[in-house]
Amino acid sequence: MRHVVRAEYKDDPPDAVKTWHMVRGDGNVAMCGRELRPDAESRPDTAWGRTREPFCHTCGALYLREVPSEPVDV
Ligand SMILES: [Zn+2]
Repeated sequence: MRHVVRAEYKDDPPDAVKTWHMVRGDGNVAMCGRELRPDAESRPDTAWGRTREPFCHTCGALYLREVPSEPVDV
């Protein structure tokens, strides 16, 4: 299963990334259940843990459970 990192934005300013979530496939609902903007920025799952903004802890835990072979420095 392919995973994609997608952005959750702040209300103000709306283009500032608040948190990064992990999404399965091409949808816009994060693994933690949060619905993200359809136009939210996407990054490959290799970007996990390598951005300036924080990552969603729930998504991280679920992702690590699904992809145990890929170490992630969270
Ligand atoms: Zn999340």
